[in-house]
Amino acid sequence: MKITSFPRNDHTNGWYNTLGDQPPARVLQGDSRADWVVVGGGFAGLAAARRLGELRPDDRVVLLEAGRIGENASGRNSGFVIDLPHDISKEQPEHDLRQIRVNRQAIAWLQELVERHQIRCQWSHRGKVHVSVTDKGRRNLEVLTTRLSGLGEAVETWDKARLKAYLGTDYFDYGIFTPGCILMQPAALVTGLARSMPANVEVYEDSAVSEFSDGAPKTLTTAEGSVTTSSVILATNGWTPAFGFLERQLLTMHTFASLTRPLTQQEQADLGGEGDWGTIPSTLGATTMRYTQDHRLLIRRSLRYRPDFNILPSDLIQIRGEHEDTLRKRFPMLPELDFEDTWGGVLCMSRNHVPKCGALGDGVWAAVCQNGVGAAKGTISGRAVAELATGADTDLVADMTAYDELQRFPPAFITGLAFRARIAHAQMMAGKEA
Ligand SMILES: Cc1cc2nc3c(=O)[nH]c(=O)nc-3n(C[C@H](O)[C@H](O)[C@H](O)COP(=O)(O)OP(=O)(O)OC[C@H]3O[C@@H](n4cnc5c(N)ncnc54)[C@H](O)[C@@H]3O)c2cc1C
Repeated sequence: MKITSFPRNDHTNGWYNTLGDQPPARVLQGDSRADWVVVGGGFAGLAAARRLGELRPDDRVVLLEAGRIGENASGRNSGFVIDLPHDISKEQPEHDLRQIRVNRQAIAWLQELVERHQIRCQWSHRGKVHVSVTDKGRRNLEVLTTRLSGLGEAVETWDKARLKAYLGTDYFDYGIFTPGCILMQPAALVTGLARSMPANVEVYEDSAVSEFSDGAPKTLTTAEGSVTTSSVILATNGWTPAFGFLERQLLTMHTFASLTRPLTQQEQADLGGEGDWGTIPSTLGATTMRYTQDHRLLIRRSLRYRPDFNILPSDLIQIRGEHEDTLRKRFPMLPELDFEDTWGGVLCMSRNHVPKCGALGDGVWAAVCQNGVGAAKGTISGRAVAELATGADTDLVADMTAYDELQRFPPAFITGLAFRARIAHAQMMAGKEA
């Protein structure tokens, strides 16, 4: 089948742009055979290809990525590798405990890779602070604290003074700190992962799969080449329906981030705080923030429902304005600070908030749909699907295949209306938390 929906790269990703000149892409050329083809070079695809390479050292593993690795959502996110989910359900502690367990496996694996391959990606054990400024936000955090404590997790409650000492700004009234989250520079991490693959894994970029023949064998065609194989892993997140799978089971939406220039020494002193931190909002539709090791501030806020993946320059202008507004309110001591880049990226959600990690058909597997937090979840899903596809009988496979099946969304027209309304409502209700 012809693939008709492709990722678009608008080169706005600030994290990637700060990396400086990158080596040219290795593009797939000519026709060849491989034992395995992984499509997609985000957290999930990189993890799947690496694990296949480890488990099958004599096999040829080919990874095909449509754009540049690091320009995709995996290089565009806010750089939290979370251990604890933001939402803990009252009803399903076994679901939450499983999620925490696999997230921690992902963190341990990534940590080992960052150390072994000396990946310079600002990897740090700084934890995360959930912050609030309204009564409603505080109540949400109190509920989260109760539920996390019920699962045996350590949670510190922070008052306004502690938050100011840590963050510099006195904007927030209440917060909770959990220590197990990692902060990192996402584009640096994923490019580092792509360049440290086992010897039998070949990574091709700017090599979008434009045609997929799902027979025996299967052929994946790109602009300048093709690969024939018996085994395909799709790590294509919201683009998976373009390959003929999971139609009406995935929903994509965009969220946006802006990154400032580095603060001057005077600005760093004016801000104060401890540096190298990350905050998570207490309500949906509000703002995530980072202060990086190279002294930049990141604002992540705003949601758009664009199933055609079409983000216009005018969207980015409007969203940068929203981010500037947030920056000025929270950091009045930095009146001259401005953004270098504003960008959007795709989140992939399922109706019942579960991932798809498993078989899609004969010789086709998927590690997709990380429900908005994919650094840990995508990594572990990719690892698990490689273990599953090679027949490895591991605890991780048992964990990742224990999720329910993805529920179907209503027809696109109804889903679109419902989601746009939900986004508008969340953004309106965020109020001062935004
Ligand atoms: C602004 C923003 C902030 C975020 N913050 C966080 C955060 O702090 N922590 C966190 O955990 N998550 C965060 N997320 C979510 C996280 O980035 C995603 O969940 C994660 O990147 C998903 O990883 P993935 O590998 O499943 O998919 P992706 O990174 O989307 O990778 C899928 C890949 O498939 C490729 N592809 C698609 N079609 C084809 C084709 N035809 N041929 C070849 N390749 C193809 C795409 O180019 C893409 O590279 C954020 C996302 C955004 C946008």
